Amino acid sequence: MRKGTYRLKTVKERDEPQGEAEGRTVLGVDRNVDGYLAVTSSGAFIGNADLFNHKRREYERRRGKLQQQGTRSAHLTIQSIGSRFANWSDDYLHNVSKQVVAEAVANDCDTIVLEDLAGIRERIGDLSKFQQWAFSELARQITYKAKAEGITVEMVNPAYTSRQCSHTECGFTHKQNRDGDEFVCQKCGKELHSDYNAARNIAARYLQNRRKSGAGGATNHLALKSGTMNGSGDFTPTASRG
Ligand SMILES: [Zn+2]
Repeated sequence: MRKGTYRLKTVKERDEPQGEAEGRTVLGVDRNVDGYLAVTSSGAFIGNADLFNHKRREYERRRGKLQQQGTRSAHLTIQSIGSRFANWSDDYLHNVSKQVVAEAVANDCDTIVLEDLAGIRERIGDLSKFQQWAFSELARQITYKAKAEGITVEMVNPAYTSRQCSHTECGFTHKQNRDGDEFVCQKCGKELHSDYNAARNIAARYLQNRRKSGAGGATNHLALKSGTMNGSGDFTPTASRG
């Protein structure tokens, strides 16, 4: 397993979140500017956003110093460290996107669901140009790598995905549910990693939208894959089941 990546085994085994809606098996992916770059609804934590940001700051610091020097050789060095950083960040995102798509393949998913950029802005606030680029680039890379595997990528605008409890029978939304990485539902007491909770909500939101739009009519429902529902019926959508 690559550095900066681990899998939350206990959660995954206990709590299979992916489901089917008229044949759809959906992987929700939460993207972030700190902690993990991508967290999936299947419980994979991928890429180190803090390392990514750190490398960016280092690059900007060096570039700033060189710009102050203003010499021709400093200018050439700026170009060289610029392209080196561009290559590094591109490679890093390729690695992350590859792992996200591998996670979808491993879970037999036919759909990957991401938050659209508007949703991310709403959740995180102002993003730097670099962060916006990273989010878009990650989505672009996931999309074409997924396509090669026959997997569709869909976008949702999931307002409050980080504040809402992803426990199906609950769905309680409150600002105090989340404290950094910790999500503790103030109503039902469910405890999850915040990003994992958000990823589950992203997947669920997409399936809810499909049901609302009437796709599949009476047969349109979300059913957990056989044998994966836990005792509390987790991840069953709040809407009626078909
Ligand atoms: Zn709850």
